[in-house]
Amino acid sequence: AQLDTLDIVVLAVILLGTAAYFTKGKVWGVTKDPYASSFANANGGAKAGKTRNIIEKMEESGKNCVIFYGSQTGTAEDYASRLAKEGKSRFGLETMVADLEEYDYDNLDSFPEDKVAMFVLATYGEGEPTDNAVDFYEFITAEEPSFTNSNDPPLGNLTYVAFGLGNNTYEHYNSMVRNVDKALEKFGAHRVGEAGEGDDGAGTMEEDFLAWKDPMWAALAEKMGLEEREAVYEPIFGITERENLTKDSPEVYLGEPNKMHLEGTAKGPFNAHNPYIAPIAESKELFNVKDRNCLHLEVDISGSNLSYQTGDHIAIWPTNPGQEVDEMLNILDLKDKQDTVISVKALEPTAKVPFPTPTTYDAIIRYHLEIGAPVSRQFLGTLAAFAPDESIKAEMVKLGSDKDYFHDKISKNHYNISRTLSVVSNGQKWSNIPFSAFIEGLTKLQPRYYSISSSSLVQPKKISVTAVVENQLIPGRSDPFKGVATNYLLALKQKQNGEPNPEAFGLTYELMGPRNKYDGIHVPVHVRHSNFKLPSDPTKPIILVGPGTGVAPMRGFVQERAKQAESGETVGKTILFFGCRKRSEDFLYESEWEEYKKVLGDKFELVTAFSREGSKKVYVQHRLKERSKEINELLQQKAYIYVCGDAANMAREVNTVLGQIIAEQRGVPESKGEEIVKNMRAANQYQEDVW
Ligand code: FAD
Repeated sequence: AQLDTLDIVVLAVILLGTAAYFTKGKVWGVTKDPYASSFANANGGAKAGKTRNIIEKMEESGKNCVIFYGSQTGTAEDYASRLAKEGKSRFGLETMVADLEEYDYDNLDSFPEDKVAMFVLATYGEGEPTDNAVDFYEFITAEEPSFTNSNDPPLGNLTYVAFGLGNNTYEHYNSMVRNVDKALEKFGAHRVGEAGEGDDGAGTMEEDFLAWKDPMWAALAEKMGLEEREAVYEPIFGITERENLTKDSPEVYLGEPNKMHLEGTAKGPFNAHNPYIAPIAESKELFNVKDRNCLHLEVDISGSNLSYQTGDHIAIWPTNPGQEVDEMLNILDLKDKQDTVISVKALEPTAKVPFPTPTTYDAIIRYHLEIGAPVSRQFLGTLAAFAPDESIKAEMVKLGSDKDYFHDKISKNHYNISRTLSVVSNGQKWSNIPFSAFIEGLTKLQPRYYSISSSSLVQPKKISVTAVVENQLIPGRSDPFKGVATNYLLALKQKQNGEPNPEAFGLTYELMGPRNKYDGIHVPVHVRHSNFKLPSDPTKPIILVGPGTGVAPMRGFVQERAKQAESGETVGKTILFFGCRKRSEDFLYESEWEEYKKVLGDKFELVTAFSREGSKKVYVQHRLKERSKEINELLQQKAYIYVCGDAANMAREVNTVLGQIIAEQRGVPESKGEEIVKNMRAANQYQEDVW
């Protein structure tokens, strides 16, 4: 019954791919490898002419362990790589990582008995497989998958292990790994260890993964007769210094995302592999309060073939702040080599270099690695071997193996990797770590998504963004924690408006980009289409629930309806529930709503909830409840309801309240109310865009 009430929070962005899993705004990695396609050929991905036969592939590359991943936001892919490395270094397994999309599965029934397959599978949206795992999922969960042979049972030879990445705030928690595990067992495959489940909703993904993998390795070692050895770091990437090149050599990448950008011939299609360097036409602050910022940006896409529809997302490709880049170079003792040109090559035919080379240490750290992100405990264990001295090594080993100690010393303070190294070594430099360890151990710097806050009917070539700047005080830490992308955008806004103190938050950025290519306030972007869409019939009533920056797409919706009304179309009732702390501080677009009201008249109503004005906190869900009768009537007239913003709390509560409203108003039991809400979701009458 617990779970039933949790059938709630859902991304509306389900089919198309990328939105990240978030824990209270915490990024779970993001898009699929944006470089994969450009490098797949060079590095042995299953592109044209490559085999889709995994067994053949394993045989020809001498592998006995394949780790398949179904990944949307990069986390499952990261975990797969980590398992591959660990299997190799601890147990001498010959491992390879495989994108589920790049292989066929009908021959899994001839998977050799002495090899093992691992499945690391994220569940996406409402229990769906990730984009790259759709075909596999359909195949394996079919009533009778068309395996090549007629073995009985078909997968009697297959030994496998499984780990799932999910979020308990979704109804179909970890359904991907659960269903795949069930199917594999049904066809006679033998699972080793438990099928693990990581929970992003509880914020325990990493710890769940760590807790699952040790018993799994022990069981696998026993089953396959593997002998554990002392784990030695073996690089996957080889780094060579290119003495004949300097950072000014034309073939050296200084942060350009691909060859076209390097050669100055960037053209569309612009997408997750190829951003458009867009001018920011305008930028301004939306809050009236000193210590919090919310940015409004107008991104001009008129120079590109990019297009968007109201309700879509824009991806912003950030740059790491200069101070963090310096700290990283410094603690790794690479300051002198900052601009040294290096080539990075995969030493492993199945690995892919996550950025183009030749390049420099500076460019890799600044443009390609997520150096600000939370640190992985396991990664500290790996780095221990390279500690400057024995006592530092012991401390690293302890951090790597003691969960509570690690939490207390590192994660609680929001330390990133360079700060962690620096705190542990007390500032002593870590000169011995092979740089490849960072390319392998850190996530690629990911674009961040924003719900477009304009209507494409009103401004088809200009995309509005409404972004709140991440700037948190962390108890026990002297400087605030600052989000990567939003502080970069803040700096761009400050520069654009010639604001007196562009380093107000202590961060500087290479705002001009590689080779000054972003000069004149440009930012790399692409657009991601979403399913969060107005009803095609504008006469349908709509209920919009968008507190805080959740108002972003709602602004686009209201803009669109005002435009339609202006052009003489009949538009249905449009009721917007907006909430923030105080009218005088963070009431987003306050004066604009009045303009829309002038055009839409009584077709538009804004209902506000200010949480810090009265003695009692009032949120949008309370306002919804107060309007029970009207909400129910609108729903009975087939109103569409849209919810955007905080996934963890607000969206769940809105879902619950809606079920209650329906139950109460229609005189049916609450369970029936919940069921009606569920059906509304299934019929797209209830749409969410939450993060
Ligand atoms: P990041 O650096 O990515 O940090 C984000 C969070 O991760 C931090 O708050 C913290 O909780 C955690 N974190 C990061 N580093 C550490 C560390 N070292 N230790 C501990 N914790 C850490 N946002 C908006 O403002 N407006 C929108 O319209 C909007 N729409 C979105 C739509 C979608 C589909 C999605 C998926 C997200 C949307 N977001 C929106 C959120 C946005 O994408 C970003 O996540 C947000 O702006 C923060 O990005 P950042 O790079 O500034 O912060």
